[in-house]
Amino acid sequence: MIRKFISRVLGRKLPGIQGEPTVIPASKHGMRREQISSGSRRTVETLQQHGYKAFVVGGAVRDILAGIPPKDFDVATDATPEQVRQCFRRARLIGRRFQIVHVMMGSETIEVTTFRGHHGDADQRAGNRAQTDEHGRVLRDNVFGSQQEDAARRDFTVNALYYDPTSETIIDYHHGVADLKQKTLRMIGDPKTRYREDPVRMLRAVRLAAKLGLVIDPAASRPIREMGELIENVPPSRLFDEMLKLLTSGHAVKCVQQLRAEGLHHGLLPLLDVILEQPLGERFVMLALESTDRRVREGKPISPGFLFATLLWHEVLAKWEGLKAGGERPTPALFQAMDDVLDVQGEKLAITRRVAGDIKDIWALQPRFEQRSGKRPYAMLEQPRFKAGYDFLLLRAESGEIDAGVGQWWTDFLNADGEARAAMLLPPPAGEAKKRRRRKRKPNGAPAAD
Ligand code: ATP
Ligand code: MG
Repeated sequence: MIRKFISRVLGRKLPGIQGEPTVIPASKHGMRREQISSGSRRTVETLQQHGYKAFVVGGAVRDILAGIPPKDFDVATDATPEQVRQCFRRARLIGRRFQIVHVMMGSETIEVTTFRGHHGDADQRAGNRAQTDEHGRVLRDNVFGSQQEDAARRDFTVNALYYDPTSETIIDYHHGVADLKQKTLRMIGDPKTRYREDPVRMLRAVRLAAKLGLVIDPAASRPIREMGELIENVPPSRLFDEMLKLLTSGHAVKCVQQLRAEGLHHGLLPLLDVILEQPLGERFVMLALESTDRRVREGKPISPGFLFATLLWHEVLAKWEGLKAGGERPTPALFQAMDDVLDVQGEKLAITRRVAGDIKDIWALQPRFEQRSGKRPYAMLEQPRFKAGYDFLLLRAESGEIDAGVGQWWTDFLNADGEARAAMLLPPPAGEAKKRRRRKRKPNGAPAAD
């Protein structure tokens, strides 16, 4: 206990200089080599046969120990990227500044990273701060280092575990195995410094705690409230990737609740600020996230377009209502509202053009679900985005935004056969029937014979 305490204190004060790692045998940690993918195992073994150190590292080890199937497998090694490449027939170098290697093993792609080190100390002493921005955010992270240094630059103790399938041991520099057992998410080093270096770690803390059922250590959760605004300095594309990971983690509801509890949604995700304060919006977003969580857990695919369409919908509704109240016709008003919302939020969230296209398709279908006469419902079924639009409609109905009858009508229409479908059609609205008749007149004004 005391040793552990001292090493932790020393570890914080002298990053990278603390003692030897704990080498944990299989009998203690219980992880078996069969639990890692064959591709990652072969990658590690090949590197070791060439005389290099190599381990499965990071999220995969953590997830297996926590009883969760890992998403992917990363390998860390002391071989340089070029040396790694030479060990494999199918491997390619990725990235310019900090190269990693993608090793292809059957259908698997294993990401192999060379141990990274610190570069701060000497540069800071020399007054060279070019590698961080004015808030302390690290802009470059491209120096090779020892395994010990590599462990120290990872974010949480549970993420700094190195698994060697050959000996079935885990190399643990920061008591990650013990923390995982105690259900604690603990930052390596001083949390404030680590958040300053990379504010995305605040989001990672929330996501990993929700995913693994861990409690964020108070030392790591306390600074989040006051440092949350640093997230504004993170490039939008990175924020988008991280938010997407969070929202598609299968624990989105828990994550959003935790984001709020930590005070992180203010300014960070302006759309959550707005939505959660609207009377119908919160229920709608929560229903959408619950359904996303369910889909992820059932292994079904998730569309980012659908997700962001739900998150931003009540903003669109508010704008749409405003424009209609100002005298704009409904359809142009909707398109105007969609563009306005995507212009503002799309930029902040770096929503890609393709995703923005999907979002608009889903929104644009919504008023068309109201039209349930003539040929229109049949044409709707042919729309490429019909299913997404329909799922979206059901959420709107469930949240109480629209009459539940509309959603039910479409469900029944989908399930009905030809005749029953035709019988379900509503009579055309009065104004529309007149318009049709007028269009059928011949140029000389005589009514067309039917
Ligand atoms: P998941 O794969 O479930 O999203 P992960 O922890 O594996 O979670 P990755 O982005 O795959 O996340 O990162 C792999 C490893 O790289 C992490 O386990 C951690 O050791 C390290 N890492 C990732 N992001 C950071 C960061 N922002 N700061 C420090 N270390 C990081
Ligand atoms: Mg990972």
